[in-house]
Amino acid sequence: MRQGRVKTIDLKEEEELSENVKKHFKHQYTRPYQSDLINQLYTTLASSKHVVVEAPTGLGKTSAVWAAVRTYALEKKLKVLWLTRTASQVRQVSAETGATPVYGRRLLCLHEVISRIDQRRFNMACRATRSAGRCPYYPGRPKAIKATTVSELKDAGRKTMTCPYEIQLLSLPASTALVATHRQLGLIGWLLAKWRAGRENIILVLDEGQHVVQDALTMVKDSISIKTVQKAALEAVKYGFKDIANRLEEAVEYYEGLLPADGEMEADDRLPDYEDLTVVGEEAQEKKLRENYAPASHLLSLADFKASLAGRKPLLVREGKSLRLEATADPQEALQRVYHGWVKTVTMSATVSAEFLETILGEEVTLLRAGWPYGNNLRAKIVTGLTTKYEARNEQLADDIRWTIYLVNDTGKKSLVFMPSFEMLEVTTNGLDILREGKGMSQEDVDRLVSEFNSSEKPLVAVYNGRLSEGIDLSANLVLLIGIPFSPPTTRTAKLLKRLTEIVGLEDRARLYGVILPGLWSALQAAGRAIRGPEDSATVYLLDSRYRKLMRLFPRWFREKIEERPVRLEDLPIELEGVRP
Ligand code: SF4
Repeated sequence: MRQGRVKTIDLKEEEELSENVKKHFKHQYTRPYQSDLINQLYTTLASSKHVVVEAPTGLGKTSAVWAAVRTYALEKKLKVLWLTRTASQVRQVSAETGATPVYGRRLLCLHEVISRIDQRRFNMACRATRSAGRCPYYPGRPKAIKATTVSELKDAGRKTMTCPYEIQLLSLPASTALVATHRQLGLIGWLLAKWRAGRENIILVLDEGQHVVQDALTMVKDSISIKTVQKAALEAVKYGFKDIANRLEEAVEYYEGLLPADGEMEADDRLPDYEDLTVVGEEAQEKKLRENYAPASHLLSLADFKASLAGRKPLLVREGKSLRLEATADPQEALQRVYHGWVKTVTMSATVSAEFLETILGEEVTLLRAGWPYGNNLRAKIVTGLTTKYEARNEQLADDIRWTIYLVNDTGKKSLVFMPSFEMLEVTTNGLDILREGKGMSQEDVDRLVSEFNSSEKPLVAVYNGRLSEGIDLSANLVLLIGIPFSPPTTRTAKLLKRLTEIVGLEDRARLYGVILPGLWSALQAAGRAIRGPEDSATVYLLDSRYRKLMRLFPRWFREKIEERPVRLEDLPIELEGVRP
């Protein structure tokens, strides 16, 4: 297994764009690093199977990667499958590149009742409705159309009384490039069959690839809440399956009694067998259809979960009021399943580690890394004299953090503060006149908080890996990253480290890949809320002495922005004087 340093190409800020790739780059001018990214990616594709493109948001990665990949694919008669995180990103990439979008069935569903069923039960309910001839839109009269958005597909479906998903499928075989969400990785065989394409003829582009890697590191293959088990028990009672109902009620009692406080532990599998759940679930589904109810079954959701467990013990997890069972997955198997078999793969991310990918895949990876494209509008400084290490979490730390937030508030600058946990957030911000993220906030609450932040001068304090740390723009001039969001020493972390040690051979390296890098990526993702492009300008303060040792592990575009000389905590008032309005 290769563990050496990966082949790395540092991209140049200014370079002439090669003639052969110009055709697929639709903009008149290139941004810093874009030309070299296109040229180098095109060349690298010829010699490397796996390429990682490390570049920050705002560089124009999509148009640059597309120009290189599309040129190469057409020359070699290959197809391109572009997977990104959300449906709105699918739309954006499709508009930018012309690749055919593939949206999920639930998003396109026109059925008044079925479209409202939760994701977990949706596919089975749709299938049952279709086979019973109870969907007025199926089969309809599907005709291929050129559509980029969900509304275009839905409008076409309404006009012809046809399921929009079926309309969408018709465009697939003729397309040479598709864009869909990462979720499709779970159904990839099915998608490729509909596309009539095989991995050996496709270049896979993983946009926001850090999510795929982070997902694998969580080791969660599937999860189900104990509430769903309770609902399945009620369903079993209602449709006369007493024995299954009793077993489910006993299972609920067992799991609830096992873990009274927040935490996680391996538990016995007390759920009925997959076959039993499937048989009674399908019967319940049929009865619901006969009674004119939506044929959605919690029993079938459980059967699905049992299939994911595949005979292994579940992990029981309690977080506040939520109690759930998780089916775990091996991180190496999960990533090899994603990356295996494609003719080429390109992983795009601001943070992913090429070295980790190379190690876990056991195949060579080439890293193309860009610097920060917008000059001095981003600055970063490490602040020493404070750490949020578990053993250092005491009253002094809480006082220091509270004092820091007070100072930031006093600057009058737009400020964002992130910290590792809600507990810390509550203790350190209690009584302060600031905006704060709350545990379990609804989407409406989050939207309200963001609009309040945009229209007021108050700092916003949030947690790493929370609702405000990703996929959201929060323009700010000051960002405080308090502590490093390393995963806590739980059963899951111990399991992950054990497995990574088996894979990479050394405990230190396992810790690097399983705990340290994901922690730094989460911190950087949070900081990225404030700096999205040339018009933003921000200083990021990294408040934790441990950042000094770890700064070399940040991606190039951020590391180059960290000032050599750290600031001492006690000098922060003078330091922040410099950023007063
Ligand atoms: S077949 Fe009917 S129920 Fe299924 S996705 Fe299409 S419109 Fe919805």
